[in-house]
Amino acid sequence: LDLKAEDLMPLKEVGAGNGGTVTQVMHITTKTVMAKKIIHIDVNPTVRKQIQRELQVLHDCNSRYIVSFYGAFTSDSGISMCMEYMDVGSLDNIYKKNGPIPLDIIGKITIAVLEGLNYLYESHRIIHRDVKPSNILVNSKGQIKICDFGVSGKLINSIADTFVGTSNYMSPERIQGASYSVRSDVWSVGITLMELAMGRFPFPPDGSQLTVLELLQHIVHEPAPKLPQDQFPEDFSDFINQCLLKDVKIRPAPNDLLKHRYVKASAEANVDVEAWAKKLHRVSPFLTISLIYRWNYDFIAMV
Ligand code: ADP
Ligand code: MG
Repeated sequence: LDLKAEDLMPLKEVGAGNGGTVTQVMHITTKTVMAKKIIHIDVNPTVRKQIQRELQVLHDCNSRYIVSFYGAFTSDSGISMCMEYMDVGSLDNIYKKNGPIPLDIIGKITIAVLEGLNYLYESHRIIHRDVKPSNILVNSKGQIKICDFGVSGKLINSIADTFVGTSNYMSPERIQGASYSVRSDVWSVGITLMELAMGRFPFPPDGSQLTVLELLQHIVHEPAPKLPQDQFPEDFSDFINQCLLKDVKIRPAPNDLLKHRYVKASAEANVDVEAWAKKLHRVSPFLTISLIYRWNYDFIAMV
């Protein structure tokens, strides 16, 4: 599929993050609805071409736990990447609107994230580098998938040159400048799942607001956060504690965690993720009213 900017009809704005904007678009010739992400980076045409070439690996990343990739192209405003549109949205928006995510659903999220990371690493030697609730997406079929992983070294560097990148989900070793490994992603998984279960970012324990620097110091020097006692099942708390081992040498990798008893139990649990996702996907009342209004109007006009 050769994607061109002029074949994409914008439908609606979906969101904006650090350096990117995401729009829901329709690919006109194939009638495919896609999410188009523009990354505004200031690089010369040669580097842009190089990035575009490195992004081609995304065509080979095929897993039910990974958001599919349709293609990328460059333009004056930066790099555009087109991917599968996930109609229920990202987990950060979901929990901020609806409160903490039910624990049985978190079990299924855990499996999707670990299987997705394990696939990327085992099949392509790709480390995600940006695991967080906004990079875990849900659709109304009840599928849970991860997105926005670092495939292009050139793109990672260009983003780093353009934006001061710190993330609340960074592991202690990464803050201290150590090289990145899959185990650093596991730390981010632990923080992410805690946030979804508690309905708030888990640092610091008392919920006070820290500056960026204070937060980074807290992560490096204070004990890792723990789930509040006796509100959560023991196997889930133990799983989180494993993810949040501060020493990267003893922290498990995603494929170790797939053998944890919490993950095994979550895999066997019968959970209706589709029903949960469909309930979140309800059409907004405003849209319903405007559609009914239009329907009436057309009807009256017809008569
Ligand atoms: P961030 O992940 O830091 O929030 P992004 O630019 O990656 O910033 O994404 C902005 C928002 O767009 C996300 O928070 C998410 O809600 C939404 N989004 C991103 N990709 C998709 C997609 N493929 N389908 C639906 N929504 C998406
Ligand atoms: Mg993102």
